[in-house]
Amino acid sequence: MQPERIQSLNKKELSDNPYVIYWMQSSQRVDCNHALQYAVEKANDLDKPLLVYFGVTDNFPEANWRHYRFMLEGLREVKMELEKRKVKMIIRKISPERGAEELSAYAALIVVDRGYLRIERQWRDYLSTHAECPVVQVETNVIVPVETVSDKGEYSAATLRRKLNKLLDRFAAPLEEEEVKISSLNLDVGFDELDVEDLDTAFEKLNLDRTVKPVDRFIGGTNQAKVFLEDFIENKLSKYSQLKNDPSLDYSSNLSPYLHFGQISPLYIYNRFLEIEDDNKADFLEELVVRRELSMNFVYYNGGYDTIHSLHEWARNTLEDHKGDAREYIYSLEDLEGAHTHDPYWNAAQMEMVLTGKMHGYMRMYWGKKILEWSKTPEEAYNAAIYLNNKYSLDGRDPNGFAGVAWCFGKHDRGWKERNIFGKIRYMNDKGLERKFDMESYLEKVQRLSL
Ligand code: FAD
Repeated sequence: MQPERIQSLNKKELSDNPYVIYWMQSSQRVDCNHALQYAVEKANDLDKPLLVYFGVTDNFPEANWRHYRFMLEGLREVKMELEKRKVKMIIRKISPERGAEELSAYAALIVVDRGYLRIERQWRDYLSTHAECPVVQVETNVIVPVETVSDKGEYSAATLRRKLNKLLDRFAAPLEEEEVKISSLNLDVGFDELDVEDLDTAFEKLNLDRTVKPVDRFIGGTNQAKVFLEDFIENKLSKYSQLKNDPSLDYSSNLSPYLHFGQISPLYIYNRFLEIEDDNKADFLEELVVRRELSMNFVYYNGGYDTIHSLHEWARNTLEDHKGDAREYIYSLEDLEGAHTHDPYWNAAQMEMVLTGKMHGYMRMYWGKKILEWSKTPEEAYNAAIYLNNKYSLDGRDPNGFAGVAWCFGKHDRGWKERNIFGKIRYMNDKGLERKFDMESYLEKVQRLSL
């Protein structure tokens, strides 16, 4: 494993406690998980059993029933897979960092995967200060570790691409996996566990926002992620470059919810593509590696990644210059959320997200641009886009979501011809959609969802 993936988060001495613990948080999978693998190796070196812990908080900002069902479906599978590998998994209903702190009383060492969002970083900081044992973070949700590829927020995909390309071969080495020597299956640690065997019973114990219902289109878990991946390779990849932007069709991989919850590893996907000969694969890998890792770079180096202040100076200035421009339409958050605008394409995109948990990638750009055009101020627009995307998208609350919204407001882009409201921010309109795609067919597709 590349040493750059591994970071000690505190300076505590290894203790004699009985277990090595892997606190699983952002990498909810068994396959191709460097943090799990590191914990297995440490447990074997120390002749101790390995426990895997996951803390379910019902308080994750903007998460609701839809997200929790997807996540718990995935965790149920993880628990079963770990059992096959003689590793016990404890899932508790508790704030994740507090649960990890309680377990640290039994841990010789705690290993944790890496998350880039503010709350995920705060949780790790809390544990590294409060645990009485070493806490080691292992980065496994990216191909190249964020600080290795760059020590600053990158200006654009082009600047990151150059740096990533030099490192890809070394970091794309497949992960060698080892089994535990000592089973932990019969250990009783005496904590109340959240039983995820029966999800309805588990949900009764969680105080969730139930206004956003689960969706049938996406079932959580690594197995289902691999089904989507193989279906993509077999049936869509050869037309990906040509058709991925067409919202009336479905030519992208739909892997983003699985990547968001760490249910599939980007390295696993990358290595699967190395086995394939197809001219379209470069376009797909550009999205999976360059665009996705640019988002990690963005949130990691931008404390205010969820606010308009994260934009480049030129973008903030041009929006400020045009703040007072007359707006033909102004919609409130309620109008937007209810898909009550004058624009059938925008309404359809919003409904697609509400009903299926995922909006077509091309419509996401149009959707974000129009919120800017139709809100009282750019700040109000920014906040509305983040709120709606996080609430309804299964892949929301992700670095990609924050970077995607920022892109609609000029981030990682260049200036364009100056115009009303947008200033120099790139503009999109409905005529462009109609010129490129069969938009009637997109409207019908979404209409069928609501029947
Ligand atoms: P594919 O085309 O199959 O791509 C494969 C993977 O590459 C994706 O799963 C994703 O991880 C990555 N990827 C693709 N496009 C992008 C991109 N533009 N930027 C970064 N990574 C990309 N993506 C999210 O994962 N979560 C979000 O909440 C999210 N919100 C967005 C909001 C707006 C306003 C915009 C403009 C974009 C947003 N994106 C978001 C980025 C992109 O639209 C989605 O990643 C993509 O549509 C996911 O579908 P897919 O998995 O079928 O993509």
